[in-house]
Parts: sequence; C-alpha cells; structure tokens
Amino acid sequence: QAKSAGRDTLQFFDPSMQKAVSARVEMEKDMRLALERHEFDLFFQPQVQRDKVIGAEALLRWKHPTKGFIPPGVFVPTAEESGLILPLGEWVLYAACRQLAHWAQNPALAELTMSVNVSPRQFYQPNFVEQVQQALQVTGAKPGLLELELTEGMLLTDVEDTIQKMVQLKAIGVMFSLDDFGTGYSSLSYLKRLPLDKLKIDQSFVREVVTSTNDAAIARSIIALGNSLGLQVIAEGVETEAQRVFLAKNGCSYWQGFYFSRPQPAAEFEAWAHAYGAEGKALSEAG
Ligand code: C2E
Ligand code: MG
Ligand code: MG
Ligand code: MG
Repeated sequence: QAKSAGRDTLQFFDPSMQKAVSARVEMEKDMRLALERHEFDLFFQPQVQRDKVIGAEALLRWKHPTKGFIPPGVFVPTAEESGLILPLGEWVLYAACRQLAHWAQNPALAELTMSVNVSPRQFYQPNFVEQVQQALQVTGAKPGLLELELTEGMLLTDVEDTIQKMVQLKAIGVMFSLDDFGTGYSSLSYLKRLPLDKLKIDQSFVREVVTSTNDAAIARSIIALGNSLGLQVIAEGVETEAQRVFLAKNGCSYWQGFYFSRPQPAAEFEAWAHAYGAEGKALSEAG
C-alpha cells in the first residue's frame, strides 16, 4: 500500500512546481526564437575616470515582442541552465567587438575600452580562447581595448584552467576584471595568482557607503587591497554625488553608475560620451 502510494505520488505535478517548470520551458523556447529573430541587443554604460570617459560595459537586453524589455537578471540564469548562454554569449562577444571596431573609426571614441560579461559556462568551454580571438579577428577590434568581466565563483572551479585561459588571452592584450568583487568567496591567495587588471567593487557595498560604517570599511578595504595588488579599482552602482565624493576621497576615482548614466543604446551612449568628453562633468572640489 504505502509502496504503491509512494510510487503513484507524482510530485512533479504539484501545481506550483508545474507552473514554474512550464514557465522555464516557455522561456527557453522564447529565447531560442529570440536569437533567430534578433531580439537581443546590447546597451552600453559608461565607465569614467573623474572627468574622462574611459570605457563602456556592454549589458545584454532582450526586447521581447509581447513582454517588452526583459532584464538579464531574469533570463541569464535560464540561459545558463539550458546552455543557450553559449550561442548567446558568443553573440554578445561579436556584437561588443563590432561596436568596438566601429568606435575605432571615431577619434573621440577610439580609446574607449569595452567590458563584456562572461558567463561561467561560456568561460569553461574548451574553445573559449579561440572564440574570443576569432571575434577580435573577424570584427577587427583591438584586443587591448577588450576587457572580460569574470566573477569570483567561476574562477575557482578550476583555477589552473582559469589561469591558463587568462594568460593566453592576456598575451594578445585582452584585459580582465573581477566583477561584483566582495560578494563571492575567493581567497586572497587566488586573487594574487590570477592575472587580473581590475576589481569592480560590488554595488551592494556602494549603495550605503555614505551611511553604513560597515560598507564604508569594506569599500575602503577593497580599494586598499586592489591598489596594493596593482589593480585598477572601479566602483559600480554610483548613484549620488556623496558616494562619488566618498570614493574619490578614499582613493578610488574610477566610477560607473546611474549618477553618470544609465545603460543606453549605442547611439545614445555615443552622444553622451561626446558631451561628457567635451564639457567634462563639474566635479566638486571636495573629491
Ligand atoms: P553586472 O555585470 O554587475 O552589471 C551591472 C548591473 O548594475 C547592470 O544591470 C546595470 O544596469 C546595473 N547598474 C549600473 N549602475 C547602476 C546604479 O547606479 N544603480 C543600480 N541600482 N544599478 C546599476 P543589468 O544590465 O540588469 O545586468 C544585470 C546582470 O546581468 C549583470 O550584472 C551581469 O551579471 C548580467 N549580464 C548582463 N549582460 C550580460 C551578458 O552579456 N552576458 C552575461 N553572461 N551576463 C550579463
Ligand atoms: Mg559586469
Ligand atoms: Mg557587477
Ligand atoms: Mg551583478
């Protein structure tokens, strides 16, 4: 009795689970179509060094025909689970490199770096290095202006493989930054071994950097750590002048956030960069 009851209990068809599963299946199906129908697009958010624009981060957007803009936080995890992140990540790489090659023709934009988020699954593909080299070659983008954003968790899955891939790409000039720094578990000894160029202070620490003594202490420590390891330290999620001033006073003058600009389509980003470059931003004396 109990045995057959157990066997007949179709937990899978619990209505709420069923709903979640079919939502995921539907999203996967939608994403496959979206790739074919070119519904994905890149937005660009400036990275500044005081009154200078130094680069852009490419951020993926999905313009869904009926659901409107779907943010990456919603579909990237599903893409990662289903493996769709592989064709999608490759598309991002090519699109970002094409944009970089396009900027190279404009003297005002020619020096800008392009930061591209790389998913763990994409990075661990055996041909990842070749994929990046090919995207650079095909588009004609300058390798020295491409920066790949990695996250702590993915670097530790296989440290030797990670280092090998990074070294090969660094040999042709590609740069690496560690995204969302401080939210993962990387030990300092790994941090020392990885050939990184840049740390990005996670926005969760920046948000209350002015009001929370703990967040202020964490931000200061990350800045000190990065500086002493010879890495560039950039703060993400800068939304206010007070946050910017705090960062500047504490030795971090690379910034990214809504205070400067939201992520925008290429044309809007370019117009913004021209204006910022021409006029600078009136940064207060305080920082
Ligand atoms: P991330 O790489 O840490 O990107 C920064 C996120 O913070 C972006 O969200 C950006 O719009 C947002 N942001 C920037 N400045 C501010 C600010 O001042 N305040 C606040 N509240 N938010 C700010 P977005 O575009 O929704 O992307 C979310 C995450 O999705 C990214 O986090 C990244 O992990 C992932 N992602 C985005 N594009 C790609 C991609 O092409 N490939 C992969 N694998 N992941 C991507
Ligand atoms: Mg990022
Ligand atoms: Mg981040
Ligand atoms: Mg993030």
